[in-house]
Amino acid sequence: MAVFDLARLVTAAADTIAAHAEELTALDQAIGDGDHGLNMKRGFEAVRAEAEAFSAKPVPEALKAIGTKLVMTVGGASGPLFGTLFLALGKEISAEPDHASLTAAFGKAIEAVAARGKSQVGQKTMLDVLQPVHDALAGGKTAAEIADIADRAADATIPMKALRGRASFLGDRSIGHMDAGGRSVALLVRAIGEALEGQP
Ligand code: ADP
Ligand code: MG
Repeated sequence: MAVFDLARLVTAAADTIAAHAEELTALDQAIGDGDHGLNMKRGFEAVRAEAEAFSAKPVPEALKAIGTKLVMTVGGASGPLFGTLFLALGKEISAEPDHASLTAAFGKAIEAVAARGKSQVGQKTMLDVLQPVHDALAGGKTAAEIADIADRAADATIPMKALRGRASFLGDRSIGHMDAGGRSVALLVRAIGEALEGQP
């Protein structure tokens, strides 16, 4: 991957979260406390506000700065987890990542989220979308294919029973609703993929 326009990716991410904030809130209302849309919007608007400053940094530093900003602004359980994702990605990625090094760094970042959340795939969390996205990336899928896989992975959280996070307090009553954090990941993956593809 050549040097890319990080500001454009940040803007695309913030745009999709803003456009879907009410949907994310509604998902979290069903099996949580209804703050996920607001949490994510607050965090990604804070990142958007500093998009130019972030994109002036080398990629690893930019990702770490974004992660730190998300930890400080998103709040809830998801703030430290999304923050960890970007922080760890920044720590693992090289300054000019190619497909293989990006995939490896993303894998390590997912491991960091799982460690932070004491969670694993199958527990109805953002990990249930992150992991299939990683596997699709590793399998050489296109951005559009990966976005579709992310959507299907978010859909696949619906019949799951939540074993981590606030939704786990509901036990079996968490079944039948999509995980809000997983939906956020799917939205971000599609927006970032489209923004990347639009670049020369
Ligand atoms: P809170 O649950 O504190 O209100 P949010 O509503 O912002 O925080 O985020 C909820 C989302 O965070 C969930 O939908 C889930 O995807 C994710 N999440 C919560 N706990 C964990 C965990 N331990 N590991 C991974 N993801 C988690
Ligand atoms: Mg919540």
